Amino acid sequence: MKQDILTALEFPRVMIRENMDLRTCRFNGHYVGELGCKLCTAATECKWLVEHDEFSNLARKPLAEVAAALEFAMHFVEAMVMESDHQCEECHCEACRWLRGARKTVADFHQLPDGPADYPQ
Ligand SMILES: [Zn+2]
Repeated sequence: MKQDILTALEFPRVMIRENMDLRTCRFNGHYVGELGCKLCTAATECKWLVEHDEFSNLARKPLAEVAAALEFAMHFVEAMVMESDHQCEECHCEACRWLRGARKTVADFHQLPDGPADYPQ
């Protein structure tokens, strides 16, 4: 499951990077920490990108953390898709297809019979 999620995180990573609102960013999209980025509207996305980029050893993090990263990305993509009025259940664009997969993965994760903690990693 973890590997599926890691693979699934590749798409939103690109999408978030391309769609971040950097108008209030003083650092051109380089996350400098809670304090420096406090007033920026893109801070949440920036922080997410830093913590979940290709080089952040994501594969070694616990499944729950990786699943939470997917959930965050799902909400971001969801918001993007809604803004552009897609009929997500039927739409064939990459974002909507990804979203359907992500929703299923997130739901699967939350419905693990013995709770997420006991799922084989
Ligand atoms: Zn779509």
